[in-house]
Amino acid sequence: MNNRLFPLFADLRNRPVLVVGGGVVALRKIMALQSAGARVRVGAPELHGELQKLAANNEIDYLPGKFQEDWLNDVWLVVAATDDNQVNQLIAVAAEARRLFVNVVDDAELSSYQVPSVIERGPLQIAISSAGAAPMLARHIREKLEAQFDESYGSLTALLAQHRERIRQHLPVLPQRRRWFEKLLQGPVLSLLRQRQTIKAEHALLSALSQQDPQAKQGSVALVGAGPGDAGLLTLRALRLLNEADVILHDRLVSKEVLALARRDAEFIEVAKESGHHYTTQDRIHALLLEHAKAGKRVVRLKGGDPFIFGRGGEECEVLRANDIPFEVVPGVTAALACAAYAGIPLTHRDHSQSLRFVTAHCAKSEDTLDWQQLAAEKQTLAVYMGVASLDRLQNKLIEYGRSPNTPIALIENGSRPEQRVVTGTLVTLSQRALLHQVKSPALLIIGEVAAFANSLHWFGAAPLGVTDMQTKHSLLAAA
Ligand code: SAH
Repeated sequence: MNNRLFPLFADLRNRPVLVVGGGVVALRKIMALQSAGARVRVGAPELHGELQKLAANNEIDYLPGKFQEDWLNDVWLVVAATDDNQVNQLIAVAAEARRLFVNVVDDAELSSYQVPSVIERGPLQIAISSAGAAPMLARHIREKLEAQFDESYGSLTALLAQHRERIRQHLPVLPQRRRWFEKLLQGPVLSLLRQRQTIKAEHALLSALSQQDPQAKQGSVALVGAGPGDAGLLTLRALRLLNEADVILHDRLVSKEVLALARRDAEFIEVAKESGHHYTTQDRIHALLLEHAKAGKRVVRLKGGDPFIFGRGGEECEVLRANDIPFEVVPGVTAALACAAYAGIPLTHRDHSQSLRFVTAHCAKSEDTLDWQQLAAEKQTLAVYMGVASLDRLQNKLIEYGRSPNTPIALIENGSRPEQRVVTGTLVTLSQRALLHQVKSPALLIIGEVAAFANSLHWFGAAPLGVTDMQTKHSLLAAA
């Protein structure tokens, strides 16, 4: 086997190609050849399934019977896809004698060409080969590339093809063209294509072509949800944007694991937002966003969970819109969803909860505006963000407005992270339970019948600290 192959993309339009074999393996090859425009000739004693239809519709030329050398007449390329080694060998030898390239499916030794693993994005094709040496590795790389290059690259290829002549006329010299293209990629074209704003993307391309002014490089902002901590919960789009970013403005809540996935040479700016730590005001964050976007940077504003849930993402978008800075928003897995999933708590349940509310109990002021009557209603689940500081009041108010003191609760600290802890109990013991286990921020509180499921459905990390747990009993006794 040769470990140094010559990569080649062949034009097979209307060229006869021979495939020997009448089963599913042959079918897969035939489809690939046909999509490249080849005229496929199929030789086999009999055809199975779909292949019979193709022959009946004259979409393939069928040669019935056992392999004969004259099947090779006039073809450009050969595929041996039979399940008989001897026949495959015969085909390989006959093809070789006629200087025809032959691929024997799954047999690198007998083959004189290999078919790579391919990622297709419109007219763009990315082919990967390990010369048959490590197909699993090739597959792994293919999956990575699949994630990295989304459909927008296909649209970009089409757009560039469409304006090829114009680009060449404007920029006749290759190095010049390259520099222009690098700059184009840093601009908004790709993200506009991703947002399916085809016309705007085309405008961006054309104006980049007519301006060619380095000052005109336009920055943009992506508000990206980083999820609760576990990097596996990032979206593919978030990952892509993190890889393309020049500047990453992130909250303290964003985990190290997520930050580790971002482009190494991006500029990282932490904007701490928790009281008690060094504090960046929202106005300062707005100013930083504008400053970097106006300097032509691709800015990622990375927020814990989802940017539009208790994350002040709306305010940031308003500021960007008012300043004409293009932006996009990438949702993230919000703490309520992640904590519930990782604690084994179904947020809704046919028997126990028909609705779900996301609530924040940040300070006394925000509590005063809450509709306690409705919050205390039964058969609903409350997911309380930023509540650790005011559990006492929350517990008393809900009971005062009629929620049963025995309603199950669960506090999830550091949800989805290796250090996750879940503390369960009932509404009347809520603040006591939190105090006993020293629950700290970030923690999410779930109130409702469904919270009890944490005791039976937990699957991630340590089992919940429940009241029946021996250790807890002891500490309760000690505390009393
Ligand atoms: N935009 C974020 C919420 C920001 S408010 C989101 O969608 O999740 C910050 C609050 O979110 C914290 O005080 C805590 O209540 C909750 N939170 C965020 N990440 C958490 C985590 N990993 N575990 C538990 N609670 C979390």
